[in-house]
Amino acid sequence: MKYGFSQRVRYLKSSAVRDILKVVNNGNVISFAGGLPDEGLFPVDAVSNAYQKAIQSNRKALQYGETEGVYHLRQQLADRMKQQKKIIRQPEDILITSGSQQAIDLFSRIMFNPGDVVLTENPTYLAALQVFSSYETNVIPVKSDQDGMLENDLEDKIRRLKPKCIYVVPTYSNPGGKVWSLERRKALLQLAHKYHVVVLEDDPYGDIQFEQDDTPPTLASMDQNKYVLYTSTFSKTVVPAMRIGWIVGPHQIIRLMTQAKQAADLHTNAISQYALVHLIQDFDLDQHIQVIRDTYYQRMLVMKRLLDQVNIDGMSYIEPKGGMFMWINMPETINTTVLLQTAVDHGVAFVPGAPFYVSDPKESTMRLNFTNATPDLIEEGMNRLVSVMKKAQMQSNEKAN
Ligand code: PMP
Repeated sequence: MKYGFSQRVRYLKSSAVRDILKVVNNGNVISFAGGLPDEGLFPVDAVSNAYQKAIQSNRKALQYGETEGVYHLRQQLADRMKQQKKIIRQPEDILITSGSQQAIDLFSRIMFNPGDVVLTENPTYLAALQVFSSYETNVIPVKSDQDGMLENDLEDKIRRLKPKCIYVVPTYSNPGGKVWSLERRKALLQLAHKYHVVVLEDDPYGDIQFEQDDTPPTLASMDQNKYVLYTSTFSKTVVPAMRIGWIVGPHQIIRLMTQAKQAADLHTNAISQYALVHLIQDFDLDQHIQVIRDTYYQRMLVMKRLLDQVNIDGMSYIEPKGGMFMWINMPETINTTVLLQTAVDHGVAFVPGAPFYVSDPKESTMRLNFTNATPDLIEEGMNRLVSVMKKAQMQSNEKAN
């Protein structure tokens, strides 16, 4: 049977990360591949109580609901964003989505025509790239370093290519684990204002900071609700299975996204939304987030200690100040996609960096997740990985000689 698929399916790509996860989920492989939070830290009792309360105390939790999302939850989000991120917005400017992934999708649906230009970092979040390419956009990378996008290249590309949007993960990014400096944030905003370009600030990891008070402010907090759309999620701080995220921004954009959401799924799961309302009321979420921060920080330090023992010329990494990932540059002679196969044979997995690139992939990069394995497993997995890395380095040296 020949199915008459739309032209658009040509742009649908399977996520390399998800494909790798399928392989890794069986056997004794220690995985640093996924972007999974630690199940051991899930607040199981609080979530269970919150769902019970949601179902028993209010039949609305079982009914069709408003596309915008449960108003009480939007109020709580407006309060939390104000207190913690200095983002001052009205509940009416918030749309509750099925994870922030859906926010990226709905935003793209209302913004992009085929061929429209989106500027991103290179590398950047793979599943955002999947969304952008499914809408047949032209994703163009901006040069960047560890502090964020380079201002000159950004301005040059804005002028020449007239992008519809700049997509960024400026705080503890996926995959790079980096945090943009305040100067680069300001520069990006100035250019967005000057050339009237919308910025999509994707911030799923901003709460997972390792050291107090040293995270630069969000872009949204520095904008007068004109250019910045800010999306975040409870996936990393409560549980991903609730599938609750949100996006906040200029009312015109949120209104159109709400219409797009009507067509997509009518509204986000009401039981989960009401459960979150109760969870935020009854549970000390901030204390819980502190436990997550401390635990992940310790795990990152274990991974870093083992990496520091590797003595490979040309290998480097940036120590993450938050989030869930460590990004490693191996010597250029090492192809990490090839290395992955050997690593899996030795019982450890990671994600090669190449799929995260828009173009010109650096085949020698890799992303390691440090949140999903316990310190013991990180230690064991890193020992395996380090020995695979060293062997690969020796082999590439032998070839060179
Ligand atoms: N943005 C980034 C940068 C992410 O890493 C993720 C999760 N992997 C998401 C968005 C989506 O998160 P969720 O849909 O679970 O809220």
